[in-house]
Amino acid sequence: MKIKRKKTRIIKIGNKKIGGNFPILVQSMTNTPTSNFEKTIKQIKSLEKAGCEIVRVGVPDLKSAKNISKIKKQIKIPLVADIHFSAELAIESIEQGADKIRINPGNFPKNQLKEIVGRAKKRKIPIRIGINSGSLEKDLLIKHNQVTPEMMVKSALRNIKLMEDLNFYELVISLKAPDALRTISAYKMLSLKTNYPLHLGITEAGTEVSGTIKSAVGIGHLLLGGIGDTIRVSLSADPVKEIRVGWEILKSLEIREKGAKIVSCPTCARSEINVIELSQKIEQITEEMETPIKIAIMGCIVNGLGEAKEADLAIVGIKKAALIFKKGKVLKKIPPKKALGELRKELALKKIKKKSGNRKINN
Ligand code: SF4
Repeated sequence: MKIKRKKTRIIKIGNKKIGGNFPILVQSMTNTPTSNFEKTIKQIKSLEKAGCEIVRVGVPDLKSAKNISKIKKQIKIPLVADIHFSAELAIESIEQGADKIRINPGNFPKNQLKEIVGRAKKRKIPIRIGINSGSLEKDLLIKHNQVTPEMMVKSALRNIKLMEDLNFYELVISLKAPDALRTISAYKMLSLKTNYPLHLGITEAGTEVSGTIKSAVGIGHLLLGGIGDTIRVSLSADPVKEIRVGWEILKSLEIREKGAKIVSCPTCARSEINVIELSQKIEQITEEMETPIKIAIMGCIVNGLGEAKEADLAIVGIKKAALIFKKGKVLKKIPPKKALGELRKELALKKIKKKSGNRKINN
């Protein structure tokens, strides 16, 4: 099955491009105070290591805005400043070198918006219009108890028009609700009405497990329909986990490749090796790996042989032993207690041999 991706307008964000045929990028947002330079840098560095490709920081005060240039000097990925209501903070963030700002244009008086847009044009940076169901314009909410996807789209189009009236077209749009159904419906509707790149996410999705599932369902559905140019999984958890989940979504749809793709069985009475422990350990070991590799960890030969044939590296339990497979062929028979050591050895070789094959399907 091939995903037919919608080709949106190409937008440059720092050293990255999105839209068109460019890869769908994985984003996250820091949860440290941006005013605390050390903490924020530390978190962004962990995010970069995990595979974050664009990072957003909240800018609630002037000290945070002034830290942007300092932070930028220490990181490799584009930095986005998230601003609500304050034109002063938006302007300061732009002047400090933010690669993109995220605002809701309707929150600013016309003269202030004109000033923000003028600065963004001068610095050649894009702006994301971030529509959230929880902060829609008051006039749209009158007579309605619940925000509908139609209202979210109306708000997005209204905000897009405010920017286009100022001849500003370097836009990215997001339309997030805290549930998959409204989010899917809103993005689908908007995608038919605009060609700007769309940043996907389910806002305030929840805790690690529930938020992961909600995001996978919502973002996954849209990506399958060819919608989306960047993604962010919002979790009430360490943002590094957002990056891991984001990549897993892209990997499971075979949109992009990165690091290990683990196939492991749920185990049953036939299992000859400790699949649960082994797969968890292998997941940890390969967490920051770039090289795409498919690893199968299977308890017995019932489904094990078939999976091992399709994997780059596999371990399959047999009577009181385990078989290590490489590229579908048996490499050696080992005692189960040596399983982790053998897999580690093979992974170390793989790491040295190949560099990241980051992009697979994207159109
Ligand atoms: S591969 Fe073997 S051990 Fe694993 S679930 Fe299937 S039958 Fe059970």
